Amino acid sequence: MQQWDVIVVGAGAAGLMCAIEAGKRGRKVLLLDNGKRVGRKILMSGGGRCNFTNLYCSPENFLSQNQHFCKSALSRYSQWDFIALVQQHAIAYHEKALGQLFCDDSAKDIVEMLLAEAKAARVQIALQQQISGVSFADGVYTVETPELNRQCHSLVIASGGLSLPNLGATGFGFQLAEQFGLKVLPLRAALVPLTWQPGDKAVFEEISGVSLPVTAAANGTLFPEDMLFTHRGLSGPAILQISSYWQPGDDVIVNMAPQTDLNEFLATQQQAHPEQEVKTALAKLLPKRLVEKLLELQVFVNQPLKALNPKSMQQIANSLHGYIFKPNGTEGYRTAEVTIGGVDTDGLSSKTMEAKNQPGLYFIGEVVDVTGWLGGYNFQWAWASGWVAGQYC
Ligand code: FAD
Repeated sequence: MQQWDVIVVGAGAAGLMCAIEAGKRGRKVLLLDNGKRVGRKILMSGGGRCNFTNLYCSPENFLSQNQHFCKSALSRYSQWDFIALVQQHAIAYHEKALGQLFCDDSAKDIVEMLLAEAKAARVQIALQQQISGVSFADGVYTVETPELNRQCHSLVIASGGLSLPNLGATGFGFQLAEQFGLKVLPLRAALVPLTWQPGDKAVFEEISGVSLPVTAAANGTLFPEDMLFTHRGLSGPAILQISSYWQPGDDVIVNMAPQTDLNEFLATQQQAHPEQEVKTALAKLLPKRLVEKLLELQVFVNQPLKALNPKSMQQIANSLHGYIFKPNGTEGYRTAEVTIGGVDTDGLSSKTMEAKNQPGLYFIGEVVDVTGWLGGYNFQWAWASGWVAGQYC
């Protein structure tokens, strides 16, 4: 039987950060993972360059049943703290858009930085571990694997969500939470492409590859970013973002020309080029293949601009400023970046991430019901919640 002060389950972003901080405090820390290497999601994130935080990160960028829960951790370990760590390790990075920070070279730089910090903090790492059970008695947790039982006073669960099961994602953290009497809020895939209804697939798959800047709205929330038509449905940042707010059965309302008042645009074009066809005018603003498709769908009638009257002009503008898609569903955990829902924050201390009803048991990162927008927010939550737990576990 091995004895540890702290066992952290899950060597992803949150687990690594927590293990480092606990190790720095002189705690004897073991970091366990079921995979062959640490930080697998970090390595494949941001197209291999890891969007490791966001300059504008604030609690408003997160979804949670309790919007206030994430505030404490995010303020105590902010984006500026993580940026300082990246700078300390001389990792080159840049802002891509909207405050999103990426490595110049490779996400490997972030994993290597964390491994160097873990080594300096004397964190032990055990990979390819299959946990068969966890029990608690007399203030001590026993973590069982087929080869070995290990004991610890603090058990930190950083096993992430359900997305990308082929990268080692499991429901371990959710099951363990329930085992110890914590509530787990319903789980669903988020930051995920939306799929077509069968009828729409036949119509829109022909224009897969077309992308355009839009605003996408669902349930009163709106994101201005790019949207991409794919063979399976809609994707691109605007759709990934809105997928976190979309529920089965909801419409997604897309403004295809968010920067332009189409009514005004058509009136100006009519004056300047009365003989020009409507589709030619629209193709000045929208991708040509999309305009052809909208014509086929009879969203507008192709005629010389001079034939448009104020009412028909307004109709075209309304249709394109508020085009309604009715997705069938999402691509699910196979391609989702994150899992919404998870361990109910009501059962956790926002100051320490410890379970209120179970001393010594902590939950951090994506396993908790805190989900960030696309753009580096999810890693910032992982760093912040991991850092906080690392101060107490
Ligand atoms: P994870 O990083 O998922 O780590 C959990 C670890 O626990 C894994 O190593 C897993 O193997 C291990 N584990 C699971 N079950 C067990 C078990 N039973 N026993 C032992 N170990 C177990 N977010 C951003 O902010 N920026 C990005 O650029 C970005 N890009 C992404 C790209 C992709 C393709 C994906 C899928 C996600 C991306 N995300 C991004 C989201 C981000 O990766 C996650 O939110 C973040 O990794 C969560 O950190 P975590 O430590 O909580 O969980």
